[in-house]
Amino acid sequence: MSYQAWFQCINEQCKERYPLNTVVYRCRTCDSLLEVQHDMHALARRDAKAWMKLFEDRYKSTQWPFGSGVWGKKEWILPQVDNDNIVSLYEGGTNLFWAERFGKMLGLENLWIKLCGNSHSGSFKDLGMTVLVSQVKQMISEGAPIKAVACASTGDTSAALAVYCAAAGIQSIVLLPKGKISIAQLVQPIANGALVLSLDTDFDGCMRVVQEITKDETIYLANSMNSLRIEGQKTVGIEIAQQFDWEIPDVIIIPGGNLGNVSALGSGLLMMRDLGLIQRLPRIVVAQAERANPLYRSYLKNFESFEPVQAQKTLASAIQIGNPVSVQKAIRTLKQFNGIVVDATEQELADAAALGDTTGMFNCPHTGVALAGMIKLLRAGKIDKSEHVVVISTAHGLKFTDFKVAYHEGTLDFPCHYANKPIELPPTVNAVREALNHALQKRREQNV
Ligand SMILES: *Cc1c(COP(=O)(O)O)cnc(C)c1O
Ligand SMILES: [Zn+2]
Repeated sequence: MSYQAWFQCINEQCKERYPLNTVVYRCRTCDSLLEVQHDMHALARRDAKAWMKLFEDRYKSTQWPFGSGVWGKKEWILPQVDNDNIVSLYEGGTNLFWAERFGKMLGLENLWIKLCGNSHSGSFKDLGMTVLVSQVKQMISEGAPIKAVACASTGDTSAALAVYCAAAGIQSIVLLPKGKISIAQLVQPIANGALVLSLDTDFDGCMRVVQEITKDETIYLANSMNSLRIEGQKTVGIEIAQQFDWEIPDVIIIPGGNLGNVSALGSGLLMMRDLGLIQRLPRIVVAQAERANPLYRSYLKNFESFEPVQAQKTLASAIQIGNPVSVQKAIRTLKQFNGIVVDATEQELADAAALGDTTGMFNCPHTGVALAGMIKLLRAGKIDKSEHVVVISTAHGLKFTDFKVAYHEGTLDFPCHYANKPIELPPTVNAVREALNHALQKRREQNV
């Protein structure tokens, strides 16, 4: 059976197509974004049950490359790439766990967290980067004169690009906003041999430069306006369904910055519906930091207009983006999924992350944004307590220890409600015993 995919312009009046080995990021006719389209008739020749069985048989197996959560769905992602050119680090297959205590604290019986940060480079960006770098390797093997792959990044994209390129032996170039990403995120591309360019601007400034640099076709663009990334990232929705035995939750909440990931989530869910694997769609909620909330502002106007904003400094640094490249795709997705957009202040996101941590999570600030958004929607009655809710956790908390340290030291510029400061003591049994008596008593009082 042969399956086909191609780039297609998202503009309904245009729909121009380009082969996947074309170096093209926007439609050459109308300048709209592109998306990858699949020959759905060919895919529909295999029935839904057979697809589900195939995906289940491959899931987390050692049968390379199909044990990867992305490549286990290869026919739906990038069917024409040679297996020899696939650059996989066994991405996907991340845990989806019942956040029982946190949910009950909020009155929610059925709260689940999809931990996309439990991945090779520590964020969901791996899902898309394996696809993009595999396609680049395929193009190089066909003789394309690609010298390097470049991206602008708020930290996680560059970490993922650098590590996949290092695994493939391809040079990576990353443009980072100076002083605006965590130390862990900065050291990742450095360790993996990327050419790291630190620019005295913000993400939007880096994005403008990288789009110019990659007009030279020998430097391939890896930002999520390149829809190959979306193809890998769309497996998150498919994987959630699979992990729930193909049942669909009522609500999926996702933090949004450049807004590629929300359209990816929507795209995977629609593909499952169109091929009969699921019968209904969940509602999708996008959560933004209040300091970088252009989509939220547009939502308040029923998406009748969209204006970029100057993003302000936020703890949720990976979503500090004022001019999201994929905004049109995101709005289309939200309209299809009865979507909601919510935003969260610095204090709301930090407290939500910390409160979750006290119940056995270890949240990155972006997951904090999603959790804070969920709490606000529960209070507003827009999410019902009986609903089955999934929060997409986008990165590993250990990448953001600077944020957690500042929170627990209480050095942020707002009250940190759940700060947990270490108690410094002389090394004597008496001092420790006394401190414990006092502290345990205090905890008991707090918990009643
Ligand atoms: C990239 C990223 C996001 C935002 O994803 P978009 O596709 O840009 O909306 C959210 N959280 C983390 C941790 C990220 O790295
Ligand atoms: Zn077009």
